[in-house]
Amino acid sequence: MTDLASYAVSEANSRGRRFSEVPPQGRSEFQRDRDRIIHSGAFRRLEYKTQVFVNHEGDLFRTRLTHSIEVAQIARSIARSLHLNEDLAEAISLAHDLGHTPFGHAGQEALNDCMKAYGGFEHNLQSVRVVDVLEERYATFDGLNLCFETREGMLKHCRPEQAALLGELGERFLKNRRPSLEGQIANLADEIAYNNHDVDDGLRSGLITLEQLAAVPLVAEHLHQVREAYPDLPERRVVHETVRRMINTLVTDLIRQSALNIAAQNLSSLDDVRNAPALIAFSAELNKQQRELKKFLHSHLYRHYRVMRMSAKAQRIIGDLFGVFMEDRRLLPFKTPDTLAEADRARVVADYIAGMTDRYAIREHKRIFAVEEDAF
Ligand code: MG
Repeated sequence: MTDLASYAVSEANSRGRRFSEVPPQGRSEFQRDRDRIIHSGAFRRLEYKTQVFVNHEGDLFRTRLTHSIEVAQIARSIARSLHLNEDLAEAISLAHDLGHTPFGHAGQEALNDCMKAYGGFEHNLQSVRVVDVLEERYATFDGLNLCFETREGMLKHCRPEQAALLGELGERFLKNRRPSLEGQIANLADEIAYNNHDVDDGLRSGLITLEQLAAVPLVAEHLHQVREAYPDLPERRVVHETVRRMINTLVTDLIRQSALNIAAQNLSSLDDVRNAPALIAFSAELNKQQRELKKFLHSHLYRHYRVMRMSAKAQRIIGDLFGVFMEDRRLLPFKTPDTLAEADRARVVADYIAGMTDRYAIREHKRIFAVEEDAF
């Protein structure tokens, strides 16, 4: 990586790993982080975890895996343009959803409800837990032993009570300091990716229509351009041409506005970044347009009755599994120590459920609750 800005994260200013290791050869420390994430079990399971549509609804819909890859693509473009650490932005993006439950946000809400009395469940924190504790692959440490900056970037938000328990990782939430610019990029790349691919998936599913979307300024502008330039273009191509232009507009705007914000701060070090306000941002106009698109997706796609039915079913599956495992731990497919306090047992159950893919959760539910002969 050449021409890194002085305020970018680099191997020289990194706080390093929790357990010291021999430096990698032929790749950077952050490329090693990316590689460890790709080789983790939690990463492979993302393929069968819902983004908005459940896996069995169709082969073309985004899953958590393809979502994470799209986030990484967008984050890398932005990081490179701003002379920031592209490898770090990529690693954070690929890891940001590792802690996600099955069944998308419905799953997260259901598990959080189950865990209310035991400290709650938050997929963001769980992603860090996956890379710090839950992956059991290396001989000398639990987790993936990633660099501090990768872990920090994964933790988008955190309640103060939680932050206090997280040591140096939680510090910035208590002291009101910012994460690296690379972390800020991954966060907004996530938004760009899901808003745009949810438009695409929403249209493909037929739950929303182009006519409805024409009322959303960000879509309308590009849709109009495409239709003007190519009046006879088949619908699917119109959709892709529109979505790719929306992504391009958002990415270009984000790069331009962030470069202005950075220039206005006179940054010279990573520490300056941490003390400055959030600098990776859209312009006021695009921020407004992006919010309007989000609002549209909330009311027309995420609350569509067919998505709500899926969510209700998912909540029931997760609630049932949690309840039954808490009631009788002998039903768990692994042993838990007899001495485990109730809250710790709940955490073990939550870890188990959060790690499930959609179809594994469905099967596990069937194995436990269905009475048909073939369900065991
Ligand atoms: Mg995401």
